[in-house]
Amino acid sequence: MIAKFLDGKVLAQTIRENLKNEVQKIKDTKGSFPTLISILIGNDQGSLSYVASQKKVAEYIGIHYDLVNFPSTIAHNDLIQCILGLNSEARVHGIIVQKPVPSQIDYAKIISSIDPSKDVEGMNLANIGKMILGGNRLVPCTAASVMEHIQSTGVDLRGKEAVVIGRSDIVGKPVIHLLLEKNLTVTVCHSATDPKKLIEHIGRADVVVAAVGKPAFVKGEWIKEGAIVIDVGINKVISQIVGDVEFDVAKNRASFITPVPGGVGPLTVVMLMRNCIEAFKFQRQQGVGVTI
Ligand code: NAD
Repeated sequence: MIAKFLDGKVLAQTIRENLKNEVQKIKDTKGSFPTLISILIGNDQGSLSYVASQKKVAEYIGIHYDLVNFPSTIAHNDLIQCILGLNSEARVHGIIVQKPVPSQIDYAKIISSIDPSKDVEGMNLANIGKMILGGNRLVPCTAASVMEHIQSTGVDLRGKEAVVIGRSDIVGKPVIHLLLEKNLTVTVCHSATDPKKLIEHIGRADVVVAAVGKPAFVKGEWIKEGAIVIDVGINKVISQIVGDVEFDVAKNRASFITPVPGGVGPLTVVMLMRNCIEAFKFQRQQGVGVTI
């Protein structure tokens, strides 16, 4: 079997067009638009390029995007005050704080200070809690991208076996709960999982989500024939970007597989924009966030 490639660029383009139409309708009928504020501290190269891509996608969709760039010396309390100010500004619908942050900044406290309705990364405790209990639409963006890829296969997921490798707060843990919500039977593997058992777990999985951060960690021969394989990993090997799955072998066993690069990554920023639009809609329903 040769797997179908789940092309993240194509999926991202389709969803981006739908979001653009949705924002245009909002502008036409309500005369308002979503606004996303991105906070960057210092000038980390990775963050600068992520911010540039966010701005490009936001503006394409019709979301107003403002970058607030603080020097790397900013005091923790000053950053909190800035966020509290943005929380109370009705024209601001989404707030994202770029990582990494300098050592004087307590990232967890910063995320907690964002109003849950404006937390477009879906990472503050209220939103994580709602995701676990069900019903929250502001879910962490990479996990949302993983789920879009899985659902784009059209496969009936109910009762299927899923294995998530990795339990990070931003990828593994949210994916576990989103898979549960779709009625899969979910096994989680992590750094303390017995390596022999890891192979057994992967071998029975209909859906494999690899978020480990180790190049070609999941061997192709471990994959069950016909499985859906979602590779979240981004690993630099010499000058190449590779995933966590041994792609060349896995693609001959899986039914669907995401390439790296060009799989989960391109959709992540679009999920951020979708969250901003959801935040906008929610705030309008609540009677706040009315823009000019
Ligand atoms: P992380 O380092 O926070 O977590 C890695 C996880 O792998 C941990 O939970 C750990 O328990 C698990 N692990 C480590 N060794 C293991 C082993 N031997 N067996 C089983 N599990 C093991 O990483 P992260 O932030 O979740 O990111 C994972 C990968 O995904 C990285 O390559 C990262 O660059 C990539 N990533 C991609 C996107 C995207 O948009 N495509 C977004 C975030 C992260």
